[in-house]
Amino acid sequence: MENTKEMKIAVYPGSFDPVTKGHLDILERASSMFDKVIIAVLKNNSKKSYMPTSDRVELIRKSIEEMETLKNVEVGSFEGLTIDYARKTGAKFLIRGLRAVSDFEYEMQLSQTNQAIAPEIGTVFLITKPKYNFISSGIVKELSSLGQDVSKFVPKSVVEYLQKHKQNV
Ligand code: ADP
Repeated sequence: MENTKEMKIAVYPGSFDPVTKGHLDILERASSMFDKVIIAVLKNNSKKSYMPTSDRVELIRKSIEEMETLKNVEVGSFEGLTIDYARKTGAKFLIRGLRAVSDFEYEMQLSQTNQAIAPEIGTVFLITKPKYNFISSGIVKELSSLGQDVSKFVPKSVVEYLQKHKQNV
């Protein structure tokens, strides 16, 4: 589909510090629902990040290359409001993943704030598979810094990155 006005485009925003198999599962399902999905790393958010934005983007890019199914996915990064980035890219949808009830309250508040300021953009929530329920970027970093193998939780490129940068976690 050439005309971006007619394409159903979604932005999947997050810190991805680093990207996990939970994130990639949500991404894979989103990519089957939309013509194009842009997974976008938020720069300089209130959370202090472990990895520079460029490394987070690069690891997502490598992980996507390892997966055959993600041909309609692009990787980006942005500063500021997610809805401004969505408008710039022509996206009418945001994707967010839900793991547990504890995610729900914050995600609802975020989504309703976005609805109030950008009513033309909707949020689609996808529920994680039970096997990825407990995975978070924070837990992965902690396990890796304590010498635990995290290859069950993150793609190969992230395992290699964490091994190389172990002392900085
Ligand atoms: P943020 O700082 O925006 O929460 P994250 O990188 O932690 O960024 O998460 C991005 C999105 O992915 C959020 O919607 C989050 O709920 C979702 N997510 C994180 N981990 C998982 C997982 N294991 N399974 C499904 N969704 C997840």
